[in-house]
Amino acid sequence: MPRIFINYRRLDSEGYVGRLFDHLTRHFDASDVFMDVDSIPPGADFLKVLEDAVATCDIFIAVIGPQWLTINDEAGNRRLDNWNDFVRIEIASALEQGKMVIPVLVGRARMPSPSELPEVLAALSRRNAIELSHQRFGYDADKLISSIKSYAPANPHSKPRSEPAVVQQKAEALKALRLELVGATSSPLYEFRVNSRAFPVIGEGNPDANILMIGEAPGRNEAETGRPFCGPSGEILDEMLKGIALKREDVWLTNVLLDRPPEKRDPLPEEIAFYEPFLDRMIDVIQPSVIATLGRFAMEYIFKRLDLPEKRSKISSIHGKLVKAQLAYGEIHVLPLFHPAVVLYSASQKETLRRDFDKLKLFI
Ligand code: URA
Repeated sequence: MPRIFINYRRLDSEGYVGRLFDHLTRHFDASDVFMDVDSIPPGADFLKVLEDAVATCDIFIAVIGPQWLTINDEAGNRRLDNWNDFVRIEIASALEQGKMVIPVLVGRARMPSPSELPEVLAALSRRNAIELSHQRFGYDADKLISSIKSYAPANPHSKPRSEPAVVQQKAEALKALRLELVGATSSPLYEFRVNSRAFPVIGEGNPDANILMIGEAPGRNEAETGRPFCGPSGEILDEMLKGIALKREDVWLTNVLLDRPPEKRDPLPEEIAFYEPFLDRMIDVIQPSVIATLGRFAMEYIFKRLDLPEKRSKISSIHGKLVKAQLAYGEIHVLPLFHPAVVLYSASQKETLRRDFDKLKLFI
């Protein structure tokens, strides 16, 4: 998803910008479209804050309305000529940083010539502009959206979709793994599974997923259905995925334990050891670019399994931080997340979980 910065002057083009924002957010995630740098902490260097805000975008839209060139400040000086004018600073910074800058003309404004611009903005006049007219707003906005999509940089973390035949092979490999698990009489949890007429829960989702999520262990609901995360924490998980425009069919969802333990307790070392080769093979078949761990248990499991320096970290300090790791098929990231059930105990954690889930957008 490209991140889009909208630069504009309130007095000049606020109405158009509101409409433009609505159009953009039908095609791009709202959290990827930003238009106001509204929180500059006291004492902060605002030039630096604005430059940093511009640095995070892929596409910079400079909205130019009929008064854009001429609006004055209280002292009667043209705002564009003021060194501390936010519009000027942001555009100059985008040009200097080599961003894709698209001038968008509204309210019948025309493109300013270099001689009308302060020197730091002169290069703006060479950028090809798009006009958003009042009468054809929808049509013009769609044209702008197509341009943005064509400029969007390739996401270095996204994985090209495999050929259908490869996806089929992966699906079959996972099915074979499941059959092996069904017959795994040596599992320390096999007897309990059979006695409680339950199913093993190998996981579900996209066999070619770029995002693999690992929880702790199936509970009663999961063991009765053979599907991961189908109880209350599954509902939170679905909500979090929806927040980043994903469905569970887009990721692969599994657990450290692939059978339900008899009581609500931490997985035992011999249980973990038994399922470890299954998980290793699952990861090797799917080959995700990121493994998102759900909860402390899955995090500790993966950090130890991959022998990462972070293996002694506490989830309270490392959640939401991407950690690099090397697997046989290439470099991946691990993203430790809180378990979705945390929201069932503390509603205030929902925002934290949502923010941490946002990191997964890098892998979409
Ligand atoms: N909690 C988990 O960790 N896994 C599930 O599948 C369900 C709840």
